Order: sequence, then structure tokens, then C-alpha cells
Amino acid sequence: MPLMRIPYTAPLPSPTITPASASTLQGALTALHDFLTAPPPLVNLASGNGNGNGNGNGNGKTVILSGAGISVASGLADYRGSNGTYTLNKTYRPIYFHEFTANHEARKRYWARSYLGWTNLHKSRPNKAHAAVGMLGQLGQVSSVVTQNVDSFHPQAHPGLKTLELHGYLRSTVCLSCRTEYDRQQFQQDLSVLNPAWADFLAEMLAAGALSTENPAERRLKGLKTNPDGDVDVPGVEYGTFRYPACPACLAHPPDGTRVEQSADGAWLPSSTAGILKPAVIMFGESIPAQVKLAVEAAVDEASRMLVLGSSLATYSAWRLVKRARERGMPVGIINLGGVRGEGQFFADAPLEGLGREGVRCSLGLEEVLPALVERVQQQQQQQGAAATASQRRDGFQPAPWR
Ligand SMILES: [Zn+2]
Repeated sequence: MPLMRIPYTAPLPSPTITPASASTLQGALTALHDFLTAPPPLVNLASGNGNGNGNGNGNGKTVILSGAGISVASGLADYRGSNGTYTLNKTYRPIYFHEFTANHEARKRYWARSYLGWTNLHKSRPNKAHAAVGMLGQLGQVSSVVTQNVDSFHPQAHPGLKTLELHGYLRSTVCLSCRTEYDRQQFQQDLSVLNPAWADFLAEMLAAGALSTENPAERRLKGLKTNPDGDVDVPGVEYGTFRYPACPACLAHPPDGTRVEQSADGAWLPSSTAGILKPAVIMFGESIPAQVKLAVEAAVDEASRMLVLGSSLATYSAWRLVKRARERGMPVGIINLGGVRGEGQFFADAPLEGLGREGVRCSLGLEEVLPALVERVQQQQQQQGAAATASQRRDGFQPAPWR
């Protein structure tokens, strides 16, 4: 069965903070520390894809699943808005894959908005929460990161900790015909050359500071909205004038039975039947490639727990991973401001007066919680190290058991 990226728009329930003590920052830190460091639970290796047999403990580490909420502090808006800090952008409607592939006008509109949004995205950087995820990896707590985000912040922040990008990435374009990928920043320069009036408009917006502020409210005041997929809304702009180039590889050697034509100055012409470039993201209504689906499932299956960061699990492709983890008996932790799709069933076994190891649900800011959690793990590891050294001194030299 192909797995598609589909948005979910139903209202979300309010979270039940679990354990109840996790409603304060200190309580949440204690619960999350216990969640991460308790002895790994017995998980059912036979569930999920059926590759495993019987029971085991997994790798003892945690797989992280992150969503748009972790990038809010980097200046990228959340889809849903959280706690009244960021209000939901009601007019935002993402493009669907079938619209993009079928319709030249829809592609012009997409690339025009993407052209304006790219500068801000390209200048945005990972924040403290991404860095903390990398530290948790270095401290031996996290085995891999699965992200729904297309902003490349995870691989930038922690190149040493494996990141799987469930919905692709904006840093490249990909040809729908030959699958060649190209650098998005280079593509931006091509778009500037093909669309000089838009290049002037973009320069004006940048000069006015409408794209440089990281405050979504301020940006809106200046007439611009940046959405999580990196595009921008400009009220009253005519997208029909926008032009985009063809895939250079297909232009040089059109695939068998196709035609790739461009204008004298290099714009893709609708008389073409191939060579269309798309962002290397999985659009809504597009199937997730089988190798990505399998790699992500393997990352879940090898771990002992799952921690969800900044996601309402609104897309089914993400939600089903948490369901998979629970079916294997893996405890789930969720740190998200606001509700999460169908979350009640993920915490059915987690007691409200528990320590955290059976499951944690808290509603706090990630750039506050995660760096503090890193400190907590470091302190505990140092104390354990000191205790082990002291006990060695007391007991004198112990020969290794294999001697
Ligand atoms: Zn091509």
C-alpha cells in the first residue's frame, strides 16, 4: 500500500498531562529524564512489519519524531498555531501533488510564492531545541530522528545523529521525469534571472524588513505570511506572470517519447511533456517513496521508546508511526503545545501518578525543555560516573570477569 501525505483538519482534543506532575517545567524534566533513562521495556519485536521474532528490549535508546513545532523558534510558523502565541493562518491551503503535476498555472503560483519565501527559509537556522536533540544523541539517549519538517534543520544541527526526512526537503528540486536533483539556492538564482520584476519586488520586501523579521505577527503587518513549507502569501499579486526553468538534463536529452521546450531566455514552455522540476518535498497527496517508508519504520522498530517533539500528528504518515510504536509496546512521550490527534490511546497504559517511564505527555516550549533535559541527563551521568569511581576505590581492584 502506498503511503500518502494527507492533511488532517478536524479539531484536536486538549492534552491530559501525564504524569500529572509534568505540568510544571521541573516536574516535566523529572518525568522526561525517567522516560529516557529507565531500563528499556520489553517490546514485541513481532509486531510492526513482522520482521522480528518474540520479545526484546530494542536498542535501549529513543527514536525522535519531530514536527513543525520544533522550528517555530527558528522563525518558521507552525501550521496550527499554539497556545495563542501564533494564530492559525486560516487562508493557507497547501498545494496538492496532482495540481502541481497537472497544471502549469498552479506551478507558476507555487514557484512564485516559494521564490519569495526562500530567502527567509535559507537564512533561518536550527534553534536550541535542534541542538539539544543532537546532544541527547551524543549522550547515548537517542538512536535516530524522524522529522516531518522539510527545513533541513535537523541534519544541519546534528550531522552525526541520523535524520530521516519523512516528507523530503526543500534544499533541492527534483525532476518529475528523470528524478535528477538540483540545488535549490542555485535554482533561486535562475528564477531571479527569469523573473526580473519579481526579483525587484523581492529586493523591496527584503529592504522593507518584511522578510527579515522572525516575528510572524510583524511579518503579517507588512503584508507577508511565511508558511512551514517555505512559501509566502502576497495579497493581490498576479502569479500568472511567473516563469520557471526546465530540467537541464531533460532539456539536453529528453526522455524517450517526450518533448522538452523552453523560451528563448530559458523558461519551461507548456508545449513540453517532460522536464518539470518540483521541490524535493513530499507534497500533500503524494506518496512517500518506499525506501523512505521502510527506513523510517526500521528506525522505529530498532528503538525502545519514541519521543514526539512539536507535532500534532496531523498527517497520517506521522500518526501511524506512533501507533506502530505503541503496538510494539514502546512507551511514547509527547512534548507539544496544544492537542495531538487521537492522543488518548497512546497514554492508555501511562499512569497519571507514574514516574514517566510508561509515557510522558507535556505541553511546554521545546527550546526551554530540551536544553534543560540535556543538563539533567549530563548531571545524572556525571553523578553515576563519580559513584562508580568511588565504589571502585572502596572495593579495590576487581579483575575483569574473563581473566
Ligand atoms: Zn529531468
